Amino acid sequence: MTASQFSALFVAALLSNAVIKLWLAYRQLDHVAANRAEVPAAFREQINIAAHHKAADYTSTLVRFGGLTVLFDTFLLLAFTVGGGIQWLSDASSSLTDSLLLQGVAVIVLVLVLQSLLEIPFDLYRTFNIEARFGFNKMTLKLYLLDAVKGTLLGAVLGLPLLFAVLWMMSAMGDLWWLYVWGVWVFNKFEPMQDKAQKSRIEALLARCGFESSGLFVMDGSKRSSHGNAYFTGFGKTKRIVFYDTLLQRLSSGEIDAVLAHELGHFKHRHVIKRIAFTFAVSLGFLWLLAQLLNADWFYLGMGVTTQSTAIALLLFFMALPVFTFLLHPLTSAYSRKHEFEADAYAAQQTDANELVNALVKLYQDNAKTLTPDPLYATFYESHPPAPIRIAHLQKLGVAK
Ligand SMILES: [Zn+2]
Repeated sequence: MTASQFSALFVAALLSNAVIKLWLAYRQLDHVAANRAEVPAAFREQINIAAHHKAADYTSTLVRFGGLTVLFDTFLLLAFTVGGGIQWLSDASSSLTDSLLLQGVAVIVLVLVLQSLLEIPFDLYRTFNIEARFGFNKMTLKLYLLDAVKGTLLGAVLGLPLLFAVLWMMSAMGDLWWLYVWGVWVFNKFEPMQDKAQKSRIEALLARCGFESSGLFVMDGSKRSSHGNAYFTGFGKTKRIVFYDTLLQRLSSGEIDAVLAHELGHFKHRHVIKRIAFTFAVSLGFLWLLAQLLNADWFYLGMGVTTQSTAIALLLFFMALPVFTFLLHPLTSAYSRKHEFEADAYAAQQTDANELVNALVKLYQDNAKTLTPDPLYATFYESHPPAPIRIAHLQKLGVAK
């Protein structure tokens, strides 16, 4: 491949992704607007027209905002790569120090910092305008800034040593560096994560399902946002179920049982371990690919950079990767939706399917999530089945039982 061929391929893929994203967003807006007038028949008893309108308006606002970020991100990526941004930052960092390792770290950190700074206005607008307008934001500007500072410090403390280690291995460990980097990355992922607060409840159900874990965790999301959620994470002894306190306050004990049973369903079907194995396998493949590109002139030149170094290769690779894997989205979404159906089936077996339906309807309502997504948009992006399909599936299971 020549540099100009790769350049054309990269730009074409980036622009066509943007067009597809905007087209899907347009479809979603159109579909939500067309279904705004009436609550879908299956939800008429639980959801009133005001809540339905709110969900439609919130969804449309987010989708429009998403369209704006697509345009901005596309422009930013072009500016960093073929626009010469990374080359410029690389020249600037080489004037700072003679150490190649430090230069590499500097370029990557500069790009990440610049990217985060440019994203701040979007994030501020989303949090303090959109989320606030629909009554979801509970965050003060002070808490927002504290979170940002904490996040940056944590990122620096955890990320910088890893970045140094990876760059050092890439240049010092010979042809098989990608295997060592993968090993370090996998090891890093295995470290137990910590949670804020913990509170155990419903031990009977946990015991009945043979669930041994470090417990049921309650996360105080309510200080930041009134969105509710529950999820399952970790594996082995570190596995746990996390509930947002906002969700616990809203659900009856039967509904909490049903949501918990759904999360246990993920555990029973080994979804987390499958997903982690999948991620590890894919990342090994990607690192191998990066090793092949490390000395390919066309790769650097094609993305607008003349300086060749391990750090630049790493940076360009992770910028190009999402561009070339975007069209795989529907596959990973379908895989995730399959797991959701399996977990729902388990919940219907262990508890009352109708309780889960009621809990889900509350979740949809509380999060102002649309009940009428565009089918193609949902196929592309949604990790969970669209509301009407998921509820119909649960009702069928409830009746069958
Ligand atoms: Zn689930």
